[in-house]
Amino acid sequence: MLPRFWRKIKYRYDLVGTKCENCGNYYYPPRNLCPVCRRKSKIREVKLSGRGEVISYSIVHEAPEDLKAEKPYVIALIRLDEGPLVTSQLVCEPEEVKIGMRVRKAFRKYGEDGEAGIIYYGTKFVLDEV
Ligand code: ZN
Repeated sequence: MLPRFWRKIKYRYDLVGTKCENCGNYYYPPRNLCPVCRRKSKIREVKLSGRGEVISYSIVHEAPEDLKAEKPYVIALIRLDEGPLVTSQLVCEPEEVKIGMRVRKAFRKYGEDGEAGIIYYGTKFVLDEV
């Protein structure tokens, strides 16, 4: 159980995708098979830069019941520099977000399991100060 747990943690800290060495396409989330090359796939695990740009976004005003105090938040479709598209929460003010803006991944605490003392992290994106 333990090695698998740490493997998961690793995936949460780094933005790990896969690259097909045959055609050069990157995939995120990671795939075992390249849909372009199929049986000729040469899949390798790669760490993605975590940088990209906003392709589209929506501002979510409806927060879940237990998060009523939270302000509206931004969900963005982001094209990573390596090519894959990723949908993620973008941590910024709703009026700041623009199509084409540069963003990078950030890790924000999602929640804490008090009993076990385990902190869960997930990927979110923030504005990239270039
Ligand atoms: Zn391929």
